[in-house]
Amino acid sequence: MKGLCILGATGSIGVSTLDVAARHPHLYKIVALTANSNTELLFEQCLVHHPQHVVVVDKSKAEAFQEKISASSLADIKVWVGSEALETVATLKEVDSVMAAIVGAAGLLPSLAAAKAGKTVLLANKEALVMSGDIFMDAVTASGAHLLPIDSEHNAIFQCMPAHYKTGTDGKQVRRILLTASGGPFRELPIEQMAKVTPEQAVAHPNWDMGKKISVDSATMMNKGLEMIEACLLFNMSPDQIQVVIHPQSVIHSMVDYVDGTVLAQMGNPDMRIPIAHAMAWPERFESGAKPLNIFDVRRMDFEEPNLERFPCLRLAYKAINAGGTMPTVLNAANEIAVEAFLDKRIKFTDIPVIIERCMDTIAVSVADNLDVILDHDRQARVVAKQLIADILS
Ligand code: NDP
Repeated sequence: MKGLCILGATGSIGVSTLDVAARHPHLYKIVALTANSNTELLFEQCLVHHPQHVVVVDKSKAEAFQEKISASSLADIKVWVGSEALETVATLKEVDSVMAAIVGAAGLLPSLAAAKAGKTVLLANKEALVMSGDIFMDAVTASGAHLLPIDSEHNAIFQCMPAHYKTGTDGKQVRRILLTASGGPFRELPIEQMAKVTPEQAVAHPNWDMGKKISVDSATMMNKGLEMIEACLLFNMSPDQIQVVIHPQSVIHSMVDYVDGTVLAQMGNPDMRIPIAHAMAWPERFESGAKPLNIFDVRRMDFEEPNLERFPCLRLAYKAINAGGTMPTVLNAANEIAVEAFLDKRIKFTDIPVIIERCMDTIAVSVADNLDVILDHDRQARVVAKQLIADILS
């Protein structure tokens, strides 16, 4: 029986993780669940899964939540408040595995704490890895933690890597990775219409049902840029060994190309419970609840090279990783601020890459050799991005 902590339990990945865990109650016990402010859903999850600990980050929601818990049959649940408690529950001794599914930089410190504590880290929160790079990977190596990718592409790559492969090490005889992308909802939209797209259109992904931020990232293809950086770190590869491939049907979730000419692909329906179940059962397998792939429903599979003029965010991700140091941190932070402003209808879709690139050109790159430098560049990028947005609005 393994103890599970889900950071970001109320999000799209968190909900899918609980769905998978509930199918295997003899293998997983829910030790801790965390939410930012969605205490209604968190309470419902407590009723069904009865964790020992919960965290509510938003202090304004915590008091009412605590009262509701105390007045219910769940009074034995320990309620923690504030972001510091995320690290506390991620490192509890009863916790064996931590699902890192908070969105954005807010997930860095608890995910890193779990890695340092030697937990099995099921990593969905790609922003945490992109912004902290080698610091995160070194923490995993130093503690002997297992780091298992949840992003469907990275999970697919992990499944196609040589037997007994460990993330962060060289994939022997691997020539390159083919990182697939659906191309999002605007793959065929005339470029001159991109400035007019709305948040509602951007979050309506053709194949995947996800949180708002990652949906916008998929529409700009920043998601694929972050994933390219994530792949370099997880699989110890250089950016030129990662080929992004647009595959609109999202049946193949990525491929590994070996020196002998063999290309291994992982396929399945677009359902995040598949990579989640893979990582939770690893090195075994168990049932995920996902519909089996009917290969006869897959009438065709198309593959295209990405157009960097249409998707400048992907170009910026390559620019950031090639600059190295703190530049991926700046890229990630500027993107988070720009996406939030787009979702709030304060800037246009096409302003997103402009803001990110100006941030990258404004903030000098530093060696990213400690967490303070990372957090400082994250802060600087947020300040600069907010100023650029204010300039656009004025
Ligand atoms: P959601 O927006 O659906 O959920 C985000 C979760 O994080 C919620 O539980 C939310 O709490 C919590 N949260 C938000 N802000 C904070 C904060 N400041 N402090 C603590 N917790 C916070 O996101 P997704 O589930 O879609 O994505 C989660 C991560 O997984 C992202 O990094 C994404 O890139 C990655 N991912 C997602 C995929 C998907 O299919 N959704 C696929 C691959 C990767 P609350 O609900 O209370 O706001």
